[in-house]
Formats: sequence, structure tokens, C-alpha cells
Amino acid sequence: MAYQAEYIWLDGTEPTPMLRSKTKILHDEVSEPPIWGFDGSSTNQATGDKSDCVLRPVFQCHDPIRGGRNILVMCEVLLASNMRPHATNTRAPAARVERKFAHDQMWFGLEQEYTMLRLDHTPIGFPPGGGLPAPQGPYYCGVGADHIMGREIVELHTQACIDAGLSISGTNPEVMPGQWEFQIGPLGPTAVGDQMHVARWLLHRIAEDFDVLISLAAKPEKGDWNGAGCHTNFSTIAMREGYDAIIDACQAIGDNFLMLVENYGDGIKERLTGAHETAPWNKFSYGVSDRGSSIRIPWQVEKDGKGYAEDRRPNANMDPYLVAGLITQVVCAAADAKTAKKPTKKTVAKKK
Ligand code: ADP
Ligand code: MN
Ligand code: MN
Ligand code: MN
Repeated sequence: MAYQAEYIWLDGTEPTPMLRSKTKILHDEVSEPPIWGFDGSSTNQATGDKSDCVLRPVFQCHDPIRGGRNILVMCEVLLASNMRPHATNTRAPAARVERKFAHDQMWFGLEQEYTMLRLDHTPIGFPPGGGLPAPQGPYYCGVGADHIMGREIVELHTQACIDAGLSISGTNPEVMPGQWEFQIGPLGPTAVGDQMHVARWLLHRIAEDFDVLISLAAKPEKGDWNGAGCHTNFSTIAMREGYDAIIDACQAIGDNFLMLVENYGDGIKERLTGAHETAPWNKFSYGVSDRGSSIRIPWQVEKDGKGYAEDRRPNANMDPYLVAGLITQVVCAAADAKTAKKPTKKTVAKKK
């Protein structure tokens, strides 16, 4: 019997890549989805004379939309000439960093916020034909037709993620009407990106059937409306075991805060204004329970003296491979440098 494999990849659109996908029919005798290819000249990834790009499967799961034995296949893009990573392939560098710091066992939990739009690009939470809804306040985690729009899509998407076997950990309606969130994780640096891209693809795909667009824009509406972020929760094994490592991680991020913010997605200065539960993009701070700081340490983490920290700055349109790779590099390199400075047991013993 034949079945369908939907190959998904990231294109070369700037400043924010788009998801693309196409279907390969596989037969029973094929146990693993094979390497495939596509026309890079139609995705901003190649010129017409050297148009072939390679798709290499990196993650696969059950296809909850087609059902049966059909699958979704997340891919990375390689150059056909030498099978090296394409310039748009941000997963390959993240995988290198993940291997280098494997001993730190970095985990990520991503909170993906997004806005549903009509086909004319107006938010579904705003009145059709113009005008503004009632001000923010009743929408976050609300219930009732006057406060909630698009829940039928959220229900289908959440169940689809569960059926696919993705590590979805929750969903909620957001502060701006028609804005929602789902969370993926905790997972390692590349796995969280693989699963996030499949979850984003499922959301776009399910919303298609409702003539609804999913926007990951950082500040879809100017004015007194919250932007859309992708809060990035992270922990090393040391952070999961003690509080000092959490403070060290916050300080390591603080030492690199401008480099990081420049890689946290398009339009970040419009979103990180200091208002609407954000810290200003050009100032770094961290604090317990503080939703106005760059990094928040959840109250439960302070109480337990261990756990994780939340970088609140990444935009909804961030690249999870890039963000997880950079945070892993910054946090783990600082932790390793500190460990290297500590006297070993041997030298302590000698001094006695
Ligand atoms: P918030 O209170 O900021 O809205 P959420 O509940 O939306 O938080 O998201 C928290 C995310 O953190 C979830 O994806 C969860 O899986 C993730 N998480 C929990 N523990 C850890 C951990 N130790 N390391 C990394 N991520 C974690
Ligand atoms: Mn959340
Ligand atoms: Mn949120
Ligand atoms: Mn959060």
C-alpha cells in the first residue's frame, strides 16, 4: 500500500523564512523517508541555473490531518553540489552547539503566541469593516463569544499536535482579542525547533480550512495592543538542580544581551518597548515573577531553589533553531568557564 509523506522545510524569505511543504508518495518497502529535493529558485534559495536544493529528513511524526499511516517529515536544506548545509539552514549550527554542550543537557520550552487574521489581514478579534474592539482586559484566558474568537481552530490544532505525538504542553487565549498561545517542550535545542516548525505548519494548515491566516508578526496592531512573543524557557541540568546556576545563566545572558536581542526576530524594537509586559530592548534586567524584566525567574523556581528561567524577549516570528542554539552557546560556555576555574578535588587535597 502507498502512503503520503508531507516534507516540510524553511525557505529563504527575508527577514522571516516561511514554511514550505510538498507530498511524496511512499510505498510499503520504504521504511524511512528518503532524501528528496526541490526547486530552490522558487523559494529564494537558489538561482535558476543551479536550482536544485536537497531535503534531508530530521524529524518525522504521524500526520494527524491525513491520518492512517501518513506522516509529516521535517527537513533541513542542503546544497546539492556538496551536501553541506544551505546558508538558510540554521539547524546545522544549532546541532553543532547541542553536541558540544551535550553534557549540560539543555532543555527548552517555547511559548508560541500568534494572531489570527481574516483574508484581508484584519485581526479576527477586531470588528469586520473597521473600528476597534473594547480595550484589552477581558480577553486573556477568557470565555464567551464576546471575548473569544477562533477557539474552533485552537481545539483542532491542539488535538492534532497530541495525535502527532508532539510535546505540546498547553494553550491559552492571549491579551489581545484573537491572539492565542501554545507551548512546545521541554525538549533539547534542535528537537524543540523541529517540533515547533511542525506545530506551526499544522496551525497554518488547519486555519486554511477556515479561511483564517496565522500571523507571527511581533506587533500586528499598533497602539495599545500587546505584541506576540515566543517566551523561551530554558534550563541546564545544573539549573534544574540548584539556584546558583540559574543566576549564573541570567548573568551570562546579560553579558550578551544585545547580540541575543538582534537575533530574536524581525521587528523586535517595535515589540520590546517597555510597555505591554515587555522590557525595553536596549536594557537588560532579570527578576523573580517580573513580567516587565528581560528574564523572569518563575516564583515557583525561587521557592524550590531550582528549575529554569524565561527569556521573555524573543518574538513570535523568531527562528527556534537560532534562538536555542545561541542561548545554549552563551549559557553553557559561561558555565563551563566557571567550572574550569574551580579548583579540582585533587588540588584541594594537595593543599591540606
Ligand atoms: P508562562 O507562565 O510564562 O505563561 P507557560 O506555562 O506558558 O509559562 O510555559 C512554560 C514552558 O516552560 C512550558 O513549555 C514548559 O514545558 C516549559 N518548561 C517547564 N520546565 C522547564 C525546564 N526545566 N526547562 C525548560 N523549559 C521548561
Ligand atoms: Mn505562557
Ligand atoms: Mn503568553
Ligand atoms: Mn511566558
